Amino acid sequence: MSKKTFLLQTCCAPCALPILEYLKDKDFYITLYYFNPNIYDEKEFWKRFYEVCTIADIYHCSTILHDYNHKEWLDFLKKNLNSDLEKYVENGERCKGCLYMRLKYSFVYAKDNDFDMFSSTFLTNLYKDTDFVRKTIVNLTKNSNVKFLDLDIDKKEFYKKGIELCKKHNIYRQKFCGCEFSINQNEK
Ligand code: SF4
Repeated sequence: MSKKTFLLQTCCAPCALPILEYLKDKDFYITLYYFNPNIYDEKEFWKRFYEVCTIADIYHCSTILHDYNHKEWLDFLKKNLNSDLEKYVENGERCKGCLYMRLKYSFVYAKDNDFDMFSSTFLTNLYKDTDFVRKTIVNLTKNSNVKFLDLDIDKKEFYKKGIELCKKHNIYRQKFCGCEFSINQNEK
């Protein structure tokens, strides 16, 4: 049987590392899809992308970079939300909109490029609403040829593993989720 192609929507290297370690003996061609227009500022965007490329080399994965367009991300959220973006609490409606947009664009890439499977680093993140993420992926992948690879694992264990692996490979671990509104929230 031929190897399956798997697209992992990737927010950052610290979240992707334990997933790659977990999947390393499975028979997949893995592509890390980096679509993170939420990140502020652009320098931070490239810093995190550099680390994603580093771990892709370690685990022999491919990497796809989606252009940085922070304005598009802000416009998307402003169009879909009623109040100022900074007024939302962590994991509130702003974050749901942000996660949804990033999952949707990543999934569309997987579908348009005939990947067999799709999943997201959000599913193993201690600080994300994983029920929302799971439901969103189930909805996106239903009626599609791209199958959802659920990463239904112990998030605390993965978080610890992520810290260990970052130390081992000298990977930068950011102190905030990504956008300008999260800079002082110490989400990560
Ligand atoms: S805090 Fe994180 S998930 Fe929430 S809107 Fe900002 S970047 Fe997106």
